[in-house]
Amino acid sequence: MALNKVLTIAGSDTSAGAGMQADLKTFQELNTYGMVVLCGIVTMDKETWSHHVTPIPFETIERQIETAVSIGPDAIKTGMLGTEEIIKRAGEAFEESGAKYFVVDPVMVCKGEDEVLNPGNTEAMINHLLPKATVVTPNLFEAGQLSNLGTLKSLDDMKEAAKVIHEQGAKHVVIKGGKALDQDKSYDLYYDGETFYQLTTDMFQQSYNHGAGCTFAAATTANLANGESPKDAVINAKAFVASAIKNGWKMNDFVGPVDHGASNRVEKIEVEVTEI
Ligand code: ADP
Repeated sequence: MALNKVLTIAGSDTSAGAGMQADLKTFQELNTYGMVVLCGIVTMDKETWSHHVTPIPFETIERQIETAVSIGPDAIKTGMLGTEEIIKRAGEAFEESGAKYFVVDPVMVCKGEDEVLNPGNTEAMINHLLPKATVVTPNLFEAGQLSNLGTLKSLDDMKEAAKVIHEQGAKHVVIKGGKALDQDKSYDLYYDGETFYQLTTDMFQQSYNHGAGCTFAAATTANLANGESPKDAVINAKAFVASAIKNGWKMNDFVGPVDHGASNRVEKIEVEVTEI
């Protein structure tokens, strides 16, 4: 039987733990056919590991979108898009593709770098991506920016932010909160516009988790393409990424990627789901 087709519109992480490499590895693990529209290439300085982004000319992005849309993906995920122009085009690409599901990972900073990539991007995501999103997966920082509520410090803050982001048009909102709010457990907040759920796993090591966010959103996308409900897609993505993080490994003195295949190869992890 043909595999369901999943497209990521994202950047390349040459170290391959995050970015479109993480997406493709995850799509493959979850029995989908992964495709890419590449929007930028992130390379790392070998002495300091500081990041450099080489943009892809818009015309080349346009050609990739035309190709990918003509193939007809079942689900589309966005990652690091880079500019307002690309963000807008990614939203249009979803409409043109006829895909059923759109997962928006609202990447605002390159991990390891503090600088917000482009402040105008937040507005562009609110205008062009959130109204179309089946699921949006901000971390605490991104949720604070999208909702304009600033620093989120508590579960109540996260709920408030999830409500605002839902009103901005995203049908299902997951705020990845765990690691910043609590040290023993990893909590994410899931909101479908009616009910809040807390998704919990143990908190695993924090040193080698490069690519966790991309892997989580990619797993959500693949699960949706394979017919899971948004809630199940998110819960199972959290289980998938938890195993990937638990089995993360040291690549060099600077970075340790998650093990994208750990959930299939090493161990499955249970997620506790509580209505709150
Ligand atoms: P981002 O890379 O966008 O900041 P995160 O790494 O915070 O995203 O989150 C990705 C997923 O991994 C979320 O479900 C989050 O709760 C989970 N997670 C992150 N760090 C850990 C950890 N150390 N142990 C268990 N789960 C984690």
